[in-house]
Amino acid sequence: MKITAITARTFRHSTNTVRDSDGHGHPGPVSQTTSAILSIETDEGLSGHIVTRTADVSEALLDRFVRPNLIGQDPLCTEALWYKVYKWQRLGAGLLTDRVLAAVDLALWDLKGKAAGMPVWKLLGGARPKILAYGSTMCGDDLENGLATPEDYARFADWLVNTRGYKAVKLHGWMPPVPGAPDVRKDYRACAAVRETLGPEVPLMLDPHHFYTRTEVLWLADKLAELDFAWMEEPMEEASMSSFKWLTAKTKLNILGPETMTGKHWTRAEWVRHEACDIVRAGVWDMGGITPAMKCANMAESFHMSCEMHGTGAANLSVALAIHNTSYYERGLLHPFIDYDEPKAYQNRIDDEMDAEGYVHGREDPGLGQDLNWDYIEGNLV
Ligand code: MG
Repeated sequence: MKITAITARTFRHSTNTVRDSDGHGHPGPVSQTTSAILSIETDEGLSGHIVTRTADVSEALLDRFVRPNLIGQDPLCTEALWYKVYKWQRLGAGLLTDRVLAAVDLALWDLKGKAAGMPVWKLLGGARPKILAYGSTMCGDDLENGLATPEDYARFADWLVNTRGYKAVKLHGWMPPVPGAPDVRKDYRACAAVRETLGPEVPLMLDPHHFYTRTEVLWLADKLAELDFAWMEEPMEEASMSSFKWLTAKTKLNILGPETMTGKHWTRAEWVRHEACDIVRAGVWDMGGITPAMKCANMAESFHMSCEMHGTGAANLSVALAIHNTSYYERGLLHPFIDYDEPKAYQNRIDDEMDAEGYVHGREDPGLGQDLNWDYIEGNLV
């Protein structure tokens, strides 16, 4: 089988999320946005697809870095193809981001699953047929009855666990430009209110403001340890690995990372080697695809460490179901004003339907397990 064409098509759809001046998503009025679908096609009629941001798959990027390395190649050789594209990052003038690499790798894995007639989570190992999700909230806001106060978080967490069926909850704290943020004490009050409401047994995590100082973070970490939180992630700039090594040594709370730091599995191996985290973070979109995420997970397992996947979607779910050493699938982001379970216009169903017991199940469909509404996509091309 040979790759014959690589195309990216942009399509219009609506969104009910707005971005604040720091880039965080909040509920907002319905507006129009665009996404792109990257398709890799072959001479045998099979194709692989992934939906991503339009900027990740521009014609200039595909022409310079992707088509010259992939056209004419065997799409099943995902390891070889990942390296062929990845090596261009060194002299790619910063244009070839890990998100571009991820989009290509994910479309290739989708294709590979279809060629094998297998879901990708089984092709990668198939460690479990289902996984518990944690409800991952949006960042705090200043919306009435939204996520503006510790009591709002407590009320929403109560709904997530006692009505919707989540077995674990992760809070995102308040971040600028929300008035009053950042404030470790307010973050703590939200965590304490949620713990008080849900009782001692429900696993809880915090993903706060990402630019606290060491002393602010240590205070917060020790307070969360008292509340028996499962972990805290990315409370400081991750480029300073020494700061995380310092924090991990000083607090009982489990520190998870790195999440957004560049360097893929190599950076994560350094964090493990230097004891800068207790739990390893991997995300297909942060680290260049399924191919490096699996290496990270296997590395973590070799050190008896859990590897928790960052973010939602069919590809992160595939890795979480494939590996032995993980606890949860991150489902969200969730907010009282948004119905997460409603498919987007370009989907026939969401990638990660959750049952009443809080489990997301692996599907038997070949490929990544997306169910795209092709009529919608083709009817709304830009
Ligand atoms: Mg995070």
